[in-house]
Amino acid sequence: TKDDVKGFFIRNAFVILTIAAVVIGIILGFALRPYKMSYRDIKFFSFPGELLMRMLQMLVLPLLVSSLITGIAALDSRASGKMGMRAVVYYTVTTVIAVFIGIVMVLIIHPGKGSKDEFSKQQQIEQVSAADAFLDLIRNMFPPNLVEACTKQFKTQYAKRIVHVTMTVNDTLFAPNGSQEITREEMIPVPGSVNGINALGLVVFSICFGLIIGNMREQGQPLKDFFDCLNEAIMRLVAIIMWYAPIGILFLIAGKIVEMDDISAMGGQLGMYTITVICGLLVHAIFVLPTLYFVITRKNPFVFIGGLLQALITALGTSSSSATLPITFKCLEENNKVDKRVTRFVLPVGATINMDGTALYEALAAIFIAQVNDYQLNFGQILTISITATAASIGAAGIPQAGLVTMVIVLTSVGLPTDDISLIIAVDWLLDRLRTTTNVLGDSIGAGIVEHLSCHELQTKDAEVGNAVVEE
Ligand code: ASP
Repeated sequence: TKDDVKGFFIRNAFVILTIAAVVIGIILGFALRPYKMSYRDIKFFSFPGELLMRMLQMLVLPLLVSSLITGIAALDSRASGKMGMRAVVYYTVTTVIAVFIGIVMVLIIHPGKGSKDEFSKQQQIEQVSAADAFLDLIRNMFPPNLVEACTKQFKTQYAKRIVHVTMTVNDTLFAPNGSQEITREEMIPVPGSVNGINALGLVVFSICFGLIIGNMREQGQPLKDFFDCLNEAIMRLVAIIMWYAPIGILFLIAGKIVEMDDISAMGGQLGMYTITVICGLLVHAIFVLPTLYFVITRKNPFVFIGGLLQALITALGTSSSSATLPITFKCLEENNKVDKRVTRFVLPVGATINMDGTALYEALAAIFIAQVNDYQLNFGQILTISITATAASIGAAGIPQAGLVTMVIVLTSVGLPTDDISLIIAVDWLLDRLRTTTNVLGDSIGAGIVEHLSCHELQTKDAEVGNAVVEE
């Protein structure tokens, strides 16, 4: 009946609007391409999209901190310990599978033909050693200044440049034959940091803080209430911003289509490479993750994914899993009815460290670069690539193209030229979106699985709280 149809549209208004935005965005983008807009015109045109990015990013910091602290404080330390373990096992297993798929895909399809003739654009990228990068991952977990961690993520560590210092020594002790020139290598950190937040550091801090507040019982109550209220208020802001999201997504997508290089550049090796990445991501997102969800929960994974549609499209539009986080929360809690104690705990951690798409991508891309250079990798080196790709995906921030920066770790670990990252930059605007969508899907399915596995602890806690209320 008419009422049913109306009801359907109202219930699914967001999803329908978001899908419409994507379709209109694509059409508009292609319609405007022939006009060859200038860079500035494109910036003006995509302005509504840029605003959406900024609004979402604005919410990430308070949302991440408040949800983690309240999520963990709401459980006792044993329950949160168990839930945390499950999440970590899930993250590890899915990331390892993703890396495996990436490697198998690139070895089978073999998109790189052992020649760089096709690639014209090259640019300089700084050197860094794998060991430095590992230590930096851990350094970022412990930000020395919390206020700064809320404003910047340091990447000096990823950008150390080796310079040759030449000096003239006149000292008779060091230069017995009179004045002598000495050249040595020095590592200088390139000053710079990425805007945004050091999410990893804030996650570590918030988890510890939440655990302690939880253990403080009555004494910790005021802080618990404070963060609870903050979380609730932020989620209400998210609900408002969601109405703007379709407009933002429309312009983000249209702007990108107007801006992108000629599609014919995608022929040859780069085209094959793009297809390989897309196949790998599809296998992981459409086959592996849903199967895992079904095997563990015995529920229909595609109904679950249907509830996430808006988050997935936002990830596609923004290329940032952390900017998508607010929407992911909404979708999981409201459409899929996942317990808030689980989402609050598992989602922020997942958005920060669990990036299946990025891990798959980095392993695949590194091997592609080896193929292009006609560089034979042995089994040990492929293993090294899988380990460093995992680390690189943990270290990557949930912001656009972060995966390209952490790729340096993977390449240096097996002695591949880091400059060759420039070979794949041309298609990253597309592949970044797709891997971000996979990242968000992985985090969300993780929340569903952890909730299912933790239902015992959650019910026990419900019963305790219930009893307490009755006793009162
Ligand atoms: N853009 C991705 C994300 O936000 C990270 C990456 O570049 O792989 O999840």
